[in-house]
Parts: sequence; C-alpha cells; structure tokens
Amino acid sequence: MNKENFAFKIGDFTCTAISDGSLTYAPPVFPAPTAFLFPNAPKGILEQVLHEHNIQPEHWTEWISPYTCLMINAEEHRVLVDTGADGLGPNTGNLLQNLQRQGVSPRDIDTVILTHGHPDHLGGNTTLEGKPIFPNARFVMWKSEWDFWTSKQSEQIIKEHGMELLLSIAHKNLLPIQDMVTLVDNESEILPGIRAIATPGHTPGHMALTISSKDEQLLVIADAFIHPIHIEHPDWYAAIDAIPQQVVNSRRRLLNLNTEKTVVSAFHFPFPGLGHILQKGEEWKWQPILKVN
Ligand SMILES: [Zn+2]
Repeated sequence: MNKENFAFKIGDFTCTAISDGSLTYAPPVFPAPTAFLFPNAPKGILEQVLHEHNIQPEHWTEWISPYTCLMINAEEHRVLVDTGADGLGPNTGNLLQNLQRQGVSPRDIDTVILTHGHPDHLGGNTTLEGKPIFPNARFVMWKSEWDFWTSKQSEQIIKEHGMELLLSIAHKNLLPIQDMVTLVDNESEILPGIRAIATPGHTPGHMALTISSKDEQLLVIADAFIHPIHIEHPDWYAAIDAIPQQVVNSRRRLLNLNTEKTVVSAFHFPFPGLGHILQKGEEWKWQPILKVN
C-alpha cells in the first residue's frame, strides 16, 4: 500500500483516505509533544502509557502528525472531507496531487465538508490569489464554527489568545467561499447516508460525521481525538483543544456511537487513519486496520 491513497468500501460507497502530507510539531513553534497532546495527564501514568506505545518519554521531542483527508463516492456525489493545509509546512499541501493520482480533478468534487476551521482542515479551500479551488462544490460547515472564525465578536477573543495566524488563514479560506457554503446547526443528513454529528470542544463548532451505507458505518472523528492515546484516555485533552470539558463530552458521545463493526477515520492518526475502537467495559483501545511502514 502506498502512503498517499487508500481506498475502502462502506456498503455501496467507495471511500478513499487521501494524504495531504504531515507536519512536525516541536518546540519552539509548538510545545513539546507531551505538553501539546496531554497537558492534564498525570505524569506517572502518562509515562507508563507512552512506554506501552513504544514511545520513550524523555526522547520524544517531536510529534510528526499525518494529515489525512477523505473522499467519498456516495451514489452520484463526490464528497471531500477537509481540504488539507496547503503550504502550511514543508510536507503539506499534497491533496490535489493525490486526488489527481486517483483521476479526480477539483472540478469533480460537488460537496466539501469542513469539520472545523483550523488551517490543516481548510487550508486547501483557496488558491494563493484567494480563488476557490473546488469551483463546483457546495461547502458544509457547522454554523457556530463558521460564526466563530468570521464574526467581529470572536475576532477580538481570537486575537487576545494570540491566534492571529489561525484567524488570517481561516479568513483567507472561508470568505471567498461564503456564497458556496451551507451552514448546519442540527444533526441531520448532509447527503443521503452522510450525517453531521455535533462534537464541539476542539473548536466551538467542531463536527464529526457518520457515513452509512447498507449496514456498514464509518465514523469520522476528525480532531475530537488527535492521538490514539486519547482513545484510551478520553479525559486527557490536548493543549490545542479550545474548550476541554466539551471535548471530553464529545469524545464520550462518539465512543457511545461506536460499535464493534464501525470503521473509524481519524485525521491525525498514522496513515491511513483508519481502524476500530475496541471496547472492554469502560475501556477503549485503538486498533489500526493496517499498519503502513
Ligand atoms: Zn487538525
């Protein structure tokens, strides 16, 4: 299997995990991985868990996170979930090239679902000149998420938190598509079989999805869980999570939606970011569908 595209079936739908690349999270731009991913984890337990995951805590100086978008061929619709990071880092912005490898041009995409307004999820909405890259698409976003990144009210809050860069990337990629966007504010079907799930916390209007066809289901958790260890410890939020208590509640909700048969797609987990969440009593564990070396 290559590390760029991985196709799989959910009932009658053909889905493809498509890599946009990866970004290295390390000081000085980001906190060290443990502080970035698990700021509230008790140190002793965290070290033990990291060892179980073959991570040496004292040598863990950078976290290399894959960015994996998802394409869904759902009956006559061609749907893209998130548009990647464009040129955010030296190894990001490969989405279009990898779509092309699948024989898909940006014009072929009729629906783009944006899970939230962070640069790694909407950075590929527009060209350098600010033109929409997916000219025929209807964009779908949770209403409070759109409002958060575009309203004057939250601009002040975002600036106070030193997130000007995030704001400017959101503006560059959201304002040019404002006439192409459908905002959702309740859990309903975006398209037949594709349902929006409110999972606020990582950002104010973060959205997960269920993709159902026949009796098969894909649960797109996006950034509700950023690292597989968050599945085992849903109370351990990340430093980038805007509203930690909501993240924990949203994660529990998703864990309750999960069944043995559910396939789970996670944007930041090792490529292709697909697996099952195994449950034993009140404990959960991530089981990748396959490992890519
Ligand atoms: Zn992300």
